[in-house]
Amino acid sequence: MPRTPTIARTLPALRRATADLRRGNRALALVPTMGALHDGHISLVRLARRRADRVVVSIFVNPTQFAPHEDFGSYPRTWADDIAKLKAEGVDLVWAPARQTMYPDGFATRIAPEGAALAGLEDRFRPHFFGGVATVVGKLFAQCRPDVAIFGEKDYQQLKVVARLALDLDLGVKVVGAPIKRERDGLAMSSRNVYLSPEDRARAPALYRALKRAAARLRAGDDPEQVLAEGRTTIAEAGFVIDYFEARDAETLGALSSRADSARRLLVAAKIGKTRLIDNLKV
Ligand code: AMP
Repeated sequence: MPRTPTIARTLPALRRATADLRRGNRALALVPTMGALHDGHISLVRLARRRADRVVVSIFVNPTQFAPHEDFGSYPRTWADDIAKLKAEGVDLVWAPARQTMYPDGFATRIAPEGAALAGLEDRFRPHFFGGVATVVGKLFAQCRPDVAIFGEKDYQQLKVVARLALDLDLGVKVVGAPIKRERDGLAMSSRNVYLSPEDRARAPALYRALKRAAARLRAGDDPEQVLAEGRTTIAEAGFVIDYFEARDAETLGALSSRADSARRLLVAAKIGKTRLIDNLKV
């Protein structure tokens, strides 16, 4: 039987627990999450296990990455379930700070990422988002001081922003990306999928189908503008309202370069009913 992970809710408790885990020069991996854990999160935990000796999972629904009109209040919170899943994976420590611990009265500092954070994708529709993410991830790295941190490719732009943040602030953390975990019908797993009505859930895999088709056509050398326009039509016909459906340089997230050898990534965000879904695929 795996042991229930240690749960730290205060900074002194976290310091004691991480010092303990590190003893004997052991490497620490951090998997930052907002809870409501699904198999996508669990795949990150398993990768963390392979990359380090001890695994810390943080659970914190970060208010600074939500705009006032977004779903901070209703974001799914499934604490008991989350802990049971992490226990089954043999996770060593769960870092679950209160909002006041993360953002005490008088808190007045914000990290403002540039580069991939200004690529005109998520940032165009959620301008508050990457500032909130960078600030909380900067804090999580400072608090836990992991050797490795695992982030999902599901949030591809976020992965690039966080990897750059770790380099630029000399945080000594290696940021590792993990592949997207999907439902059997191709829908990328997400804590927000519980918002989908049965009708919208049935239509949601159209997003992944459109990504796959567009990626195949781009690989075959078809004209990107035409491929993207057709993809947008297919997605709209499936009932989505599209925020973006773009092909970008996979590293910088800038416009596609004319260099044929540079890696490309398709990225999409679209709303079905009240639910906003994001997904992406390597070309
Ligand atoms: P979240 O709890 O949604 O903030 O996600 C926490 C981490 O899990 C992020 O690094 C996400 O990119 C990652 N993640 C979420 N969904 C998936 C998925 N379907 N496959 C792989 N990673 C995921």
